[in-house]
Amino acid sequence: MQNVKQMISRLVSFDTVSSKSNLDLISDVKAYLLQLGVQSHLVPNQDGSKANLYATIGPNVAGGVILSGHTDVVPVKDQDWSTDPFKVVEKDNRLYGRGTCDMKGFCAIVLALVPEMLSANLKRPIHIALSYDEELGCLGAPFMIKEMAKNLPPIDAVIVGEPTDMQVAEMHKGVYGMTIHVTGLEAHSSQTHLGVSATRYAAKIINFINDLHDELVANPYEGLPLLPNHSTLNVGIVKGGIADNIVARDCSFTCDYRVLPQEDYNIVVGKIDTYMAQLEAEMKAKHAECSITKDVIWTPGFAAPKQDVAKSLAMRLAGKNETIGVPYGTEAGQFQTDGGFSTIVCGPGSIDQAHKPNEFIELSQVELGIKFVRDLIAHQSS
Ligand SMILES: [Zn+2]
Repeated sequence: MQNVKQMISRLVSFDTVSSKSNLDLISDVKAYLLQLGVQSHLVPNQDGSKANLYATIGPNVAGGVILSGHTDVVPVKDQDWSTDPFKVVEKDNRLYGRGTCDMKGFCAIVLALVPEMLSANLKRPIHIALSYDEELGCLGAPFMIKEMAKNLPPIDAVIVGEPTDMQVAEMHKGVYGMTIHVTGLEAHSSQTHLGVSATRYAAKIINFINDLHDELVANPYEGLPLLPNHSTLNVGIVKGGIADNIVARDCSFTCDYRVLPQEDYNIVVGKIDTYMAQLEAEMKAKHAECSITKDVIWTPGFAAPKQDVAKSLAMRLAGKNETIGVPYGTEAGQFQTDGGFSTIVCGPGSIDQAHKPNEFIELSQVELGIKFVRDLIAHQSS
């Protein structure tokens, strides 16, 4: 336990808020592993300011299990912390600090147990996968996943250690994040006939999206472990116009579409796109340079098949005979679709404590996490 606590403090001490580089943490982990004789592979981002890391412990043969975590954390700015978020404080059987729960706790458990993995007689490997930019929409992991799929012998299972209270999560929604930009034509507000109002057209699209949302609500899926059991559309940010007396030239808004894994996002997105094309044509008829554009970040949802290696392995290791769904997104869908790996989500800590000031992980959860990885070591050694 002491080693694990030290490792949690060590990882938390790196300020790896997603807007910053994670390289200091990554090189520290790389040096730590190297000291133990384990080589790491780095998969950097385009400008080299961040990197994924993966490493193999045990024989490089088929049947490996990937333990996956992200190294970035959400911001602490404007949050009311009673302690330094990047210094772990132990109090009331809890470890406080940014990332203790989401999800440096899990990463630290895995890293602290590497010496035990090395001294065990592993017959099949345990691979460690650490990503960046998960909190920005799982932007970093796909590059690493593709490399792992190409370079590693066949994988049995991936365990994504996001906080589930050590329950086995077999389902979550995908996130189709849109930023829509409407460009109109400025005019004096007393001469609306000379302008094309971007806010007016944006409002039409937002109304259309809200109506689609209500249709989704009216058509839930029965029997899913997800709440709510339908997809959702939410316009989170709207920015438009610069003055009361100007017909707005620009308006942009974001729309977060949380998609059930059972649903094809193209159906809803197709309706939005068609409607926007129709509005754009209408705007262009008034002024040729008007436009409606859309940027997208897509993070796939995740649903484990009925019979699944990762699912049954995680249930056995965690001692559970049922599974849950989780409301948040993870990299699990990417491991499943980009890597073709059997994947499950299971890790220590509660999502209730994630992303909040005074984030913490219960020591009892850390203990369960340690037991889980130790049992995996035994499993890979038999
Ligand atoms: Zn997380």
